[in-house]
Amino acid sequence: MKKMIVCQSCAAEFDAALVRCPYCGTGYAPAEEKEYMGRLEEIRTELEGHKGDGDKSLRKGVGSLSRTVLVIAVICILFLLGGYFFSHLEEQKKSEQAKAEFLRNQGIIMQEDSER
Ligand SMILES: [Zn+2]
Repeated sequence: MKKMIVCQSCAAEFDAALVRCPYCGTGYAPAEEKEYMGRLEEIRTELEGHKGDGDKSLRKGVGSLSRTVLVIAVICILFLLGGYFFSHLEEQKKSEQAKAEFLRNQGIIMQEDSER
């Protein structure tokens, strides 16, 4: 059932949802307030929608940021692995050189021995 109000100007009864008296046009404050609040609510809902957009773009930014961090992390890991691999290779080369030198020295010693 509709709430009815009595107009303060002409004493006519009308729907409380109406902003103005349909008979004399006098503004009815509570209804006007209700309409105003409704508009505020609309604005608030619209703002919340925009806030959602902001969150989305923020999330997108965080996503690209984390992707960048991930790429940097992968590059760091590759560098570390590469450095480890190359240092290992270097060590292997050195040990091979040492071995070759050792063999050469032994050969010289052996040659010296055979010369005697
Ligand atoms: Zn009226």
